[in-house]
Amino acid sequence: MFSKLAKWHAKIPPENCIQCRLCEDSCPYGAIQEPALPLAPQAKPAARRRLAGMLLLTPVLIAAGIGLGMLLAVPLSRMDPQVRLAERIGAEETEHVTGTTDASEAFRGTGRPVHELYGEAVQRRDRFRTLGGWLGAWTGLVIGLKLITLSIRRKRTDYQPDRSRCVSCGRCYWYCPGEQVRLGLIRDVSEVVPEKEDASLGA
Ligand code: SF4
Ligand code: SF4
Repeated sequence: MFSKLAKWHAKIPPENCIQCRLCEDSCPYGAIQEPALPLAPQAKPAARRRLAGMLLLTPVLIAAGIGLGMLLAVPLSRMDPQVRLAERIGAEETEHVTGTTDASEAFRGTGRPVHELYGEAVQRRDRFRTLGGWLGAWTGLVIGLKLITLSIRRKRTDYQPDRSRCVSCGRCYWYCPGEQVRLGLIRDVSEVVPEKEDASLGA
């Protein structure tokens, strides 16, 4: 996600793209984006409304994520053995369950005060609640940013790597005739793509 903000990024081709599409097939991550035409004037208001909607929706998603994360904290905190033990001891003390477990017997055997166990369980559950809130906020933010990104249409005249998916492995460079000319491996792109016009039409 932060890769989108990077100042430097992989860019092909070095000069003019002849739209041969060789790079598109070479990328193991499917990260090459094809050229995109600008939006028609009559489609622009709808696109702006969609973007505004996504911008307004993002804080709602973050808030919903926080709420959900905090709600899930209670069931998730039961993964913690101390919390489970405190709940079990509480249920035994209030006679909501009958009998004892090995864990509750062992705890009583230590002679430790019950209120200490309860206090520790509350602290751990609070930690789960805080973490759940942060995780929910992060998830809401990521979803919101993704929706915003999908609502923004950029004009592209050349085949270019998608900044959010490209890992800058450089594999596509090797396939680009323009790059091979730059490296001096061939003299002209026509050595790789004999009929430039045909290649463009094929694309
Ligand atoms: S640099 Fe690698 S990941 Fe990026 S577009 Fe080219 S082949 Fe794909
Ligand atoms: S391989 Fe190079 S010239 Fe061919 S489409 Fe990709 S960027 Fe353009």
